Amino acid sequence: MTYDVAIVGSGFSAIALTINLLRVLPRSASIAVVGDDPGFGRGTAYRTEFYLHRLNVPAARMSVFPDRPDDFVEWLRRRGKAVFAEDFATRGDYGLYLRDTLATLLRPRQRRAHVDFVKAKATACVQCESDRLVFCLDNNDELKARNVVLALGVGNADLPVSKDCIAESVRPRIVDNPWRLSWLSRVGRTDEICILGSGLTMIDQVLSLRARGHRGKIHVLSRRGLVPHPHPPRRATPVAPELPASREISQLLQALRQQIKSSGADWRGVIDGLRPQSQALWQSLSRDQRSRFLRHALAWWNIHRHRIAPEVFTRFDALIKDGTVTVHAGFIRSIDEEGAAANIDYRRRGTRDFTSIRADWIVNCTGMERAGIGHSPLLREMRESEMLVMDELGLGISVDPHSRVLDADGKAQPGLFAAGALTAGQFWEITAVPDIRVQASLLADVIAAQVAQTAPPDARIA
Ligand SMILES: Cc1cc2nc3c(=O)[nH]c(=O)nc-3n(C[C@H](O)[C@H](O)[C@H](O)COP(=O)(O)OP(=O)(O)OC[C@H]3O[C@@H](n4cnc5c(N)ncnc54)[C@H](O)[C@@H]3O)c2cc1C
Repeated sequence: MTYDVAIVGSGFSAIALTINLLRVLPRSASIAVVGDDPGFGRGTAYRTEFYLHRLNVPAARMSVFPDRPDDFVEWLRRRGKAVFAEDFATRGDYGLYLRDTLATLLRPRQRRAHVDFVKAKATACVQCESDRLVFCLDNNDELKARNVVLALGVGNADLPVSKDCIAESVRPRIVDNPWRLSWLSRVGRTDEICILGSGLTMIDQVLSLRARGHRGKIHVLSRRGLVPHPHPPRRATPVAPELPASREISQLLQALRQQIKSSGADWRGVIDGLRPQSQALWQSLSRDQRSRFLRHALAWWNIHRHRIAPEVFTRFDALIKDGTVTVHAGFIRSIDEEGAAANIDYRRRGTRDFTSIRADWIVNCTGMERAGIGHSPLLREMRESEMLVMDELGLGISVDPHSRVLDADGKAQPGLFAAGALTAGQFWEITAVPDIRVQASLLADVIAAQVAQTAPPDARIA
C-alpha cells in the first residue's frame, strides 16, 4: 500500500500533525505514523507523571489547535481540575490531553481518513519513483508514501568535552540521556551529582532527584552558570518591542534593554512581546548575525525566554539557598576517575584557574537545541544519499519557509517535509507547542492540497 502521508516520529510534532491532518484530509486519504515511542504523541516532554514536571507555558497557550486557544483549559476543566488560564499544568496532564484529543478525532471511523500507527523506527529512505518515497523500518518492513514528514525531534546533545578527555573507567558514571528515568533508581541517597548544563532539563532532574529521596550535594556546571528565570505570578502584559533597522545582534539587544529601561515595562512583557516577531526576525538575519547570536546571546536568550513556573522556581531556589545545589560557570578540561568517583576538572569562567568537582554521577543536561542531525541514523543516511543537508548552522536540516526539505542544491524535495525543532535553522523559534502547532496546521493544509491533486476524482474534497 502507498500511503498519502507518512509521519516519521512519535512526539508532539507527530501528534499535532496527525490531529491537523485528520481535520483536513478527505475520508479516502491514508496516513501512516511511524514511531517507537511507547506513549505515542507524548515524546520526551509529556510522558512524565511527576507533578512538579510542569509546563513552562501557561495552559491558555498550550491548546494543540491554534484556532481554538481554550481547548486545553476546557479539557482540564472537564476533568474537574480547577485551573486558570495562566496556570502551569503538569506535563503529564498535557500528554493525556494530546492522546484524548487524538482519540476523539479517531472515533468516527467512517468519516475520517484512514490512520495506521506503525510501531517501528525508520532506518533508511530510498526514493523509488518520482512520486513516492520508500522507507526501510527496523522491523524489516517497508513503508511507501507520497508525502513524508520527518518529525524526529533533535535527540540529545553530546557531552561538552571531547571523548578523548574522558577516562574510560568513569563511563558507567555518566548519564547521557537523563530522560531514561531509570538512572534515578541507581542513585544512592547521599551520592554527589554533577549536572552538566543549567537549563530547564537540569531543573527537572534536580526536582526528580529530591522527590525520590536524594539528599546529597548537587553541582551544576555550565559555561555561563545561568539558570532560567521564573514567570511572574501574574503574566506581564506583552509589549511589542520597537526594533532598529540594523540587524547587528549587539544593537538589537541594546534596543531591547533600552526599551525595558525607558518604558518601565516588566522585562518579561518585552521578551513575550518579541515572540510573535521572532521567526521573521531570525529569517531577516544574515548567516553571520545568526551565528553571532548563537555564540554570544543564546544562553542569555534561553534564560529570559524559556522561563519556569513560579512554584518550580521557588523549590529550586530554596535548594540553592540551603546549599544543596551549587551552580558553577566554567569549561571542562577532563573527566577522570578518582577513588571511587569521577573528578571533573574545569576552568572557571573569566579566569585561568582550574578547579574540580568530585561526583558519583555526571548527568548530561546540556540541552537539545543544538544536537543537529548527528543523533539520527536515518537523517545521516538521508544526508549521505543527498536527499537532505544540514542547515548552515548545524541546528537541524535545511528546509524552505513551507517546511519542505531542501537538497544540497537548495531544491525542495517533492513530497518531503520536516516539522519541529529539526527545522530550527529556518524558523529558530520552533521548539515549543505554540510554534509547532502553527507549523503543523500550515503543513496539514499544504499536504491536503497535494493529496487533493493526486486523489482519484471521486475522492476529491469539494
Ligand atoms: C522536558 C521537556 C519539557 C518541555 N516543556 C514544554 C512546555 O512546557 N511547553 C512547550 O511549549 N514546550 C515544551 N517543550 C518543548 C516541546 O514541546 C517539545 O520539544 C516537543 O515535544 C517536540 O516534539 P517533537 O515531536 O518535535 O520531538 P520529540 O518529542 O523528541 O519526538 C520525536 C520522536 O521521534 C521518534 N523518532 C526519532 N527517530 C525516529 C525514527 N528514525 N523513526 C521513527 N521515530 C523516530 C523519537 O523516538 C521520538 O518519540 C519541552 C521539551 C522537553 C524536552
